[in-house]
Amino acid sequence: MARTPQPFSDPIYVTRPMLPPLADYNALLETVWDSGWLTNGGRQHQELERALSAYLRAPHLSLFNNGTIALIVACQALGVSGEVITTPFTFPATPHVLSWNNVTPVFCDVDPETLCIDASRIERLVTGRTSAILAVHVYGIPCAVEAIQQVADTYGLKVIYDGAHAFGTEIDGQPITDFGDITMLSFHATKLFHTAEGGALAVRDEKLKKRIDLLKNFGIKNEEEVILPGINGKMNELQAALGLLTLKMVEEERRERSRIAAVYRERLSRLPGVRCVAVPENVRDSHQYFVIRVDAAVARLTRDELYERMRDFNVFPRKYFYPLCSEYNCYRSLPSAAPENLPQAHRAAREVLSLPLFSALGTDGAARICDILDHLLAG
Ligand SMILES: *Cc1c(COP(=O)(O)O)cnc(C)c1O
Repeated sequence: MARTPQPFSDPIYVTRPMLPPLADYNALLETVWDSGWLTNGGRQHQELERALSAYLRAPHLSLFNNGTIALIVACQALGVSGEVITTPFTFPATPHVLSWNNVTPVFCDVDPETLCIDASRIERLVTGRTSAILAVHVYGIPCAVEAIQQVADTYGLKVIYDGAHAFGTEIDGQPITDFGDITMLSFHATKLFHTAEGGALAVRDEKLKKRIDLLKNFGIKNEEEVILPGINGKMNELQAALGLLTLKMVEEERRERSRIAAVYRERLSRLPGVRCVAVPENVRDSHQYFVIRVDAAVARLTRDELYERMRDFNVFPRKYFYPLCSEYNCYRSLPSAAPENLPQAHRAAREVLSLPLFSALGTDGAARICDILDHLLAG
């Protein structure tokens, strides 16, 4: 029998943010200091908006102080009201932004393969109060964008995508931000590209970008005119400067994550009861997460047991997304939150486990994690 693998000497978390050389950040901060301009659309903000717009091929992009405020503003900009059909298999921010807009989330089950909202189940949830669909590109796997748009067109609904995991994702070479009315991106430190805290909205309509830019700055048109009840959603110069430097690192980060994912996929697909979640062939992977599904009927351990046992080796995987948003106290009494309506989401929530994925882990680190999983599940 193989030897028991050694635990890691330092804790290994699911991610570690890209950090540019501090000297580079200091140099950029010097120009910020010299300008005496710390926020309100300064030079760093303008440059980052332009650079990201080019990198993502998203012509109309607005930067934000975080992704959640961006998503709240997206709902405001589109005048979303009444009910919005969304997914329970996501981060709490997704349904919460609906609550903050006085909108009732209506939970729809997910596709058993992509774990994104099941487009074939949306139509039956549409009522006279439905105004929009808020879908999530889970782990950067694109939603069924065509089918969703078809339902939206039939019933006159807006489509908002939570693309927090989908930085740089493409479908058949087409940027993910090309789909729906608005796509939100998050630049939180745990995301592939980050500005410590930050986010953006990408839209296809220039007029909509103007409205969003007003809404993120209190609705201020000029010194004497405030024309909308806006909020403070502005990204500051320190965040934007950091983003200009992390953007330079993102391709290399993505390449290294891709190598790590290849090691995981090669080694873990042999383990009984373990399945790797993967993007389809025609999709450019954001490499935001590497996720496995543990089928307790076949595997030697349940997902929860595996989660606990990995911690003994100083590896700290995460159960993204467990519990479901429909299980939170604030949503569980909604009719759409009933577990019998959401069987696939409940199954996914029981099975998924997000493994460490960041460049500093290296393929050697990934191989060690595979040794641990071998030991726990097959050894
Ligand atoms: C990270 C995340 C958010 C929130 O973004 P912030 O920038 O942290 O506000 C929203 N939705 C999903 C799916 C996320 O993963």
